[in-house]
Amino acid sequence: MKTDVCRVLPGQAEALEKAAKILQEGGLVAFPTETVYGLGANGLSGDACKKIYEAKGRPSDNPLILHIADLAQLPQIVCQVPPKAKQLMEAFWPGPMTLILPKTALVPDTVTGGLTTVGVRFPSHPVAQALIRAANLPIAAPSANLSGRPSPTEAAHVLHDLNGKIPLILDGGPCEVGLESTIIDATGPEAVILRPGAITKEMIEALLGRAEVDPAVMGQMAPGMTPRAPGMKYTHYAPKANVTVVRGSREKVIDTINARTACDRACGKKVAVLATEENRQNYQADNVFSLGRQEDLCQVGASLFLLLRRCDEVGADQVYAEGFLEQGEGLAIMNRLRKAAGGEILEVD
Ligand code: AMP
Ligand code: MG
Repeated sequence: MKTDVCRVLPGQAEALEKAAKILQEGGLVAFPTETVYGLGANGLSGDACKKIYEAKGRPSDNPLILHIADLAQLPQIVCQVPPKAKQLMEAFWPGPMTLILPKTALVPDTVTGGLTTVGVRFPSHPVAQALIRAANLPIAAPSANLSGRPSPTEAAHVLHDLNGKIPLILDGGPCEVGLESTIIDATGPEAVILRPGAITKEMIEALLGRAEVDPAVMGQMAPGMTPRAPGMKYTHYAPKANVTVVRGSREKVIDTINARTACDRACGKKVAVLATEENRQNYQADNVFSLGRQEDLCQVGASLFLLLRRCDEVGADQVYAEGFLEQGEGLAIMNRLRKAAGGEILEVD
């Protein structure tokens, strides 16, 4: 199958109409959202959604998120909206937040991995909204990467992973947030964050007074426990290189990374460092990439997946990444780094 990449320009409906037709006929289309690129299919068709799992190589028990562009689409897919969920929708939709809610019988098991709940998001990206409206369907869409790889934040990343496997990629330029949506389980009495994102714990607490965080988010799973978002149990975001996150005081982080880099290079390994802008001059690796300024966690979030992919492009064997405090957007950034590193975090204070 040939994969077309169509740039979506304002006022040009042609690419959107083509994409909507593919979706209505049961095919796949990758499209931009404010978080990452999604791989979309008709969310009411089990057969169409099956193609998503096949194209990505995604395990079948890892459910998909349904995307809507109008609150009027909710009753079709969700049978109950608890009061806290309503508050969250009013505050953060359209935007980078997914709510877990009880599903209707119309939502196929293929979407939910057999769960009685469904993840729903109303994205703010104009191309995502226009596509959902044109298709006139809830669109099931996980991130448009091969399973296990960093999520795509540019159309070129989607093409790299899915070339020949899908008919169309809508190119809307780079994604603004660059990290996947905050997932909140809104089915119980308390809002529980299953995956952190740009809608932070602090923002949810300011609205509701309280927010819990699933222990899997910080890698604190007791043996035998499973995360409440099934996808969080899988290896994710991993470049081909080994990734080590180093966190602590500035001097110790720099010294540790440089000492380890020297050892690795002596063994013939190619080393890349993901550093904050303030520290980048201090490293002696083969490649040093700037994540952005320490104070600007939005920038760090937006560049993280892109730079993990860049580490592969330069052929790094070992990647060292500076760690962040787990507050504000730092919780989401550390959650992704933890996964990319397979839990390998060096605390050097
Ligand atoms: P992705 O769109 O690739 O970011 O993956 C969707 C994420 O949403 C995965 O981590 C899923 O486990 C999670 N998810 C989707 N539906 C549910 C649900 N009903 N309950 C809990 N987590 C869900
Ligand atoms: Mg994903």
